[in-house]
Amino acid sequence: MSLRCPSCNSNQIGSLRIAMKVGAAVGTIGGAARGISGALAGSEAGAAIGAIAGPIGITIGSISGAILGGLAGGVGGCALGAKLGDQLDRHVLANNVCLECGYRFNQ
Ligand SMILES: [Zn+2]
Repeated sequence: MSLRCPSCNSNQIGSLRIAMKVGAAVGTIGGAARGISGALAGSEAGAAIGAIAGPIGITIGSISGAILGGLAGGVGGCALGAKLGDQLDRHVLANNVCLECGYRFNQ
């Protein structure tokens, strides 16, 4: 993909991708929040399964359930946020900047 500046025709074009980063950050926070509820559910499920193996099993089950639930929520939220931010960047915001003259434009 070779872009050219509409203003000075330079091919030294940089990409801004601001919304994508913001979206990913927001998504991570949202995902982490969702991950906490997932972690709680996961720890409950883990504890129930671990209960078969006794008190140590409950602890190990709770912790691994919480970690898995939290990770799944955080990663999912980040990917979703980045995707939304990418769409915003692509369609709404001027995400290309000319490194020669500083002109901003959409591809
Ligand atoms: Zn330019």
